[in-house]
Parts: sequence; structure tokens; C-alpha cells
Amino acid sequence: MSDRTSNRLEGILDRMRAFMESDVYPIEQLASQKAFFELLPTLQEKRQKVKEMGLWTPQVPKEWGGLGLPLADFGRVMEVLGRSPYGLFIFNCNAPDAGNIEVLISQGTKEQQQRFLKPLLAGEIRSCFSMTEPEHAGSNPVVMSTTAVHDGDEYVISGHKWFTSAADGAGFAIVMAVTNPDAENPYARASQILVPTDTPGFNLVRNISVMGEPGEGWGSHSEILYEGCRVPRANLLGQEGAGFAIAQERLAAGRIHHCMRWMGICERAFEMMCERAATRQLKPGVPLASKQTIHNWIAESRAEINGARLMILDAAAKIDREGAEAARVEISLIKFSAANVLHHVLDRAVQAHGALGMTDDTLLSHWVRHERGARIYDGPDEVHKSRVARLILRDYGLRLSS
Ligand SMILES: Cc1cc2nc3c(=O)[nH]c(=O)nc-3n(C[C@H](O)[C@H](O)[C@H](O)COP(=O)(O)OP(=O)(O)OC[C@H]3O[C@@H](n4cnc5c(N)ncnc54)[C@H](O)[C@@H]3O)c2cc1C
Repeated sequence: MSDRTSNRLEGILDRMRAFMESDVYPIEQLASQKAFFELLPTLQEKRQKVKEMGLWTPQVPKEWGGLGLPLADFGRVMEVLGRSPYGLFIFNCNAPDAGNIEVLISQGTKEQQQRFLKPLLAGEIRSCFSMTEPEHAGSNPVVMSTTAVHDGDEYVISGHKWFTSAADGAGFAIVMAVTNPDAENPYARASQILVPTDTPGFNLVRNISVMGEPGEGWGSHSEILYEGCRVPRANLLGQEGAGFAIAQERLAAGRIHHCMRWMGICERAFEMMCERAATRQLKPGVPLASKQTIHNWIAESRAEINGARLMILDAAAKIDREGAEAARVEISLIKFSAANVLHHVLDRAVQAHGALGMTDDTLLSHWVRHERGARIYDGPDEVHKSRVARLILRDYGLRLSS
């Protein structure tokens, strides 16, 4: 990758690596031990330092205070920050805020940007994205019951959502709701609407207990009832009926972000596996690393990580060059294959650690639990495999419906 790494990017990555070593790794073990709100003052101190270093919100264009990096370069940043559970949050490029920031920059009106984007960019508030509903298959979100009905200058939103990540304590939600139920194209029926979380009728029912998550604050996945929730029609993002088109735009970059974050986790787990294998003595003079099984784990993991990283950066470069629509195959390929590389590498690392791998004394157990969702959110493996196959089969004259 060195050919494509500019001096500017290398400088940024070096400074981020140094900060991760000095400030983030020392607190990372707390991720599985302390609740989010308990840890928040410490995280805010780190966030302030990142701002002072000029590395804050690196994913956004320079005019919005970011580093203005192409997606392929930002992917490299995500790998460095993804090496530790709080890296992204400390640099303000975590999901779902990063996606919401991107949408507000591209779709927000001046008033929406003033009210919602600016405090989000400043790290003064958090946000969430509310699309999935318990009653319907989230992998085909076009089937949706939540509605937003006109009443004068307002939308009245009614519906039931769950897995609205980070809703607990968020300042606002971007809600997907059906506004155009009669549109012929099912992808033109829903819209994205900004809903402040203190609006009457925005009712957080519970933070769902999810494996690997602290269950509160940024780490919450919430069930929400929208009960006659009224917001001004000026809170619509983009055009009515454009909800899915906007979601697609957001998901393309989001998948690169997630996949490169996973590469950071893979590298950490790989380093831990090698370290343990080299130092654990099966008997005096016989390290675990002398066994061929371990050689296979090391070689297979190295090959899988290198391959996945190249595929992800290739997809990111294609999005930079030709846009997300042109990179649909590449995006789906990396989403399922990188998620599976992550699980293979984590599983080998746990196995190499034996009982220690099962404890919370290392981050491996946190990642195994926390990252199981990687094969489900932003499209389950099976959906992406099917999409890739259908797109490829078009070249063979076959148009299969989804
Ligand atoms: C950690 C986490 C965070 C999330 N955060 C958010 C969020 O912030 N906002 C939000 O709106 N949603 C969020 N979600 C929800 C997520 O988008 C959905 O879980 C996902 O789209 C799958 O939908 P579902 O859970 O309803 O599964 P279903 O659609 O019921 O699918 C269940 C399973 O069926 C299989 N399957 C589905 N379709 C096909 C197919 N076409 N072919 C073959 N097999 C198939 C897959 O194995 C899939 O896992 C989150 C989920 C998780 C796990």
C-alpha cells in the first residue's frame, strides 16, 4: 500500500498511532468493565486532546473542520483507530454519528445544519439512526410500518423501532418513516426525518441487552415507540420519498468504515496471538509457537487480513473514483468477507490463549461478543452474497429479483 500513501497521510497516521499508544490503549480494558456514562468524563478529556491536536472528526471535508481525506485514505485512519474499542469515539468518527454527519452535510438545509450538524461536529451531542422495526425483516427494510403523516406544517410520526443504536442520551434521531405509501416504486415510499429526542411522543421503551455492549449511552441499542410524535415538516432530510436513496449513500462509506475498523481489530488479535504463541511454554524450551497448527493459524490469518485489507481499500478507491453505485459488487464483497475474516482471526487468537482467551483479562472476549453483530448489521452475510451473485449473473443475461 506504500505507493499510495502520501506524506500527509503518513504524518496523520503516525500522530494517531502515537496518541493511541499514549492515551487510548491505557484505558481500553475499561470498555468491558465500566458503564459508558461512568467512563464519559475520561473520554471527554481524550476528545479535547484530539481537538487540540487538529485530528478531530477526520472523516469530514476541511470546510467542516475535518481532514478532507478521500475514502481510501480515511480507511487507513479507521484501521488505526479501530485497534481499540474507544478509538473512533475519541476521534468523533464513530457510528452512527459519522453517517449522520455525512447525510447532514450532503442533504441538510442551512437551518438543519445549524441546529443538528454543528453540535454533532463539535461533539456536544450524539445522534442515532432509527430504521429497523421488530415486526419486519430489517434485511428488507422496504417493508416498514412507521408512518409520518402531514398535519399542517408538521409530520406526525407513529411507529415501533428497535436497534436504534446509541439512542440513550442522543440529542436527535434520523427516523425512516413512510411518507408516500402509494408510490409505485417501493424504494420511493419512505423519508428520513430529523426528530429531537426530547420531542413528546419519542418514547424510549428500553435499552435492549445485547451481547458485548455496555447497554447504555453510545453502547445502547434501543427500542423506541413513536407515539404521535410531531416535528416540523422543515425537519425532512432531502426530498420526500428519498429515504432509501439517502440511506444507500450513507451505507457505502459506512461499510468501508466498519470493514477497516475490523482490520484494526484483526491486527491487534493477530499480534496478541503471535505474542502468546511465542511466549507460552508447553514445557521448558517448547513454546506453543513450535507447533504446526499455530503456524497454520499465523499464516492463514496473515493471508486473510492482507487480502481483506486490499479488497476494502480497492472498494474505497472505486467509490472515490466512480461513486458508490459503480462499486456495489465490491462493497457487498467486503462486507461479508471482511466480517468473516474478523471472526476467523478472533477465534484463532482465543484458541491460542486457551482459558485466558475466555476471560475478560484481554480484549479478545470483548471483541468476540461485540463483533458478532458484524455479520448482521448493515446487511447480513447472506443478503450481500446474494446481491453479489445477482449482479454477476446479469452479465450472463439473468435478471433475478431480490
Ligand atoms: C449491533 C447492531 C446494531 C444495529 N444498529 C442499528 C441502527 O443503529 N439502526 C437501525 O435502524 N438498525 C440497526 N440494526 C439492525 C440491523 O440493520 C438489522 O438487524 C439487519 O438489517 C437485519 O435485520 P433483522 O435483524 O430484522 O434480520 P432479518 O431480516 O429477520 O433476517 C434474519 C436472518 O435471515 C437471513 N436472511 C435475511 N435475508 C436473507 C436473504 N435474502 N437470503 C438469505 N438469508 C437471508 C440472514 O441470516 C439474517 O441474519 C443493528 C443491528 C445490530 C445487530
